[in-house]
Amino acid sequence: MLDTFLPFAKPSISEDAIDEVVACLRSGWITTGPRTAQFEQQLAEYCQAPHALCLNSATAGLHTALLSLELQPGDEVITTPLTFVATLNTIVQAGGTPVLADIDPNTLNISVEHVKKSITNRTRAIVPVHFAGLPVDLDPLYELAKTHQLHIVEDAAHAIGAHYKNKVIGSFGHTQVFSFHPNKNMTTGEGGCVVTRDDDMAHQISVLRFHGISRAAFDRFSKSGTQHYEVVTPGFKYNMLDIQAALGIHQLKRLDDFIAKRTALANRYLDAFKDKPYFQLPKAPNYAHRHAWHLFTPLVNTDYLTRDTFMSALKEKNIGSGLHYITPHLYPYYQQTFGFQRGTCPIAEDIGDRIVSLPLFPDLTIAQQDHVIETINSIFTS
Ligand SMILES: *Cc1c(COP(=O)(O)O)cnc(C)c1O
Repeated sequence: MLDTFLPFAKPSISEDAIDEVVACLRSGWITTGPRTAQFEQQLAEYCQAPHALCLNSATAGLHTALLSLELQPGDEVITTPLTFVATLNTIVQAGGTPVLADIDPNTLNISVEHVKKSITNRTRAIVPVHFAGLPVDLDPLYELAKTHQLHIVEDAAHAIGAHYKNKVIGSFGHTQVFSFHPNKNMTTGEGGCVVTRDDDMAHQISVLRFHGISRAAFDRFSKSGTQHYEVVTPGFKYNMLDIQAALGIHQLKRLDDFIAKRTALANRYLDAFKDKPYFQLPKAPNYAHRHAWHLFTPLVNTDYLTRDTFMSALKEKNIGSGLHYITPHLYPYYQQTFGFQRGTCPIAEDIGDRIVSLPLFPDLTIAQQDHVIETINSIFTS
């Protein structure tokens, strides 16, 4: 038994990141400024995208990206039931009606077949989630979006650095939103980024994230280079700090290495549990991809233990685990407001009852992982 608690996720912060934060603090400029601009530039390069806009969370990114679609009452946005509640909340906050398309039981990603069946004449957008860092099958989804003139906002909170058919997520399609929460594949403490190829959306997000201030609007009507600005909408306070960007600059440099470490650990879990009847393991899809392995999520076979009993047993042994996710449409607000209930998305609901996230982070050692594996085997066989 471990003397100290092993969490299921932990950020890896290098000394040069710490030095950069300290340098930022000493510089006299700690809010949005040169380091945020540098981080945005580096993110745009990494994602091969014309615009990367940093915000204080991915939730803020989803909110502003969806607001810029200017949804009208009754407009529908199709999304997945296996996601964090922020995906649904921001659809509602942007004035949309969330419509759920059930998932593919193998990839745990939104099923294109179910999306197709969910499209109505009120559908305006699709918000897929690259669950656990495994890219959604984007080609057929974008084809569908083109046919029906829908915008796709990819909730890529798990997927920075993931590849779909040899292209990095963010380098094609419409709009992607990344999260830099400490549990995600790279962190700025809290933070997020929207990447888009839509110039108009990039402009709207830049206005919405900071009080509705548009310098561009002011520049159109007056001489530029003054301290004046125009407010064109009652915007939000969603900007990223340079203190956060200081961390991000050094995290991004290590992202590919983080993913390589996560992949090696995920492969060790796959191998260790391949013949164990108490777990159903994540399956690879048949299209080319690089999994970002944000999460390693087996399904617990409830003939052995319930998922919750398993998580408690692990915790008793000083090992943390995560729950991603209980399907958010079953929370009271969503049941009461949109009439969702058990049976709305039976595949995702069943998986939400059995899924568990095992410890996975770049600094997890082989010895620690072996201990986790042995402990799990003993929990199921004792
Ligand atoms: C973490 C997460 C978010 C929210 O990210 P924040 O940066 O914490 O706002 C949104 N969607 C999914 C799928 C997430 O996992």
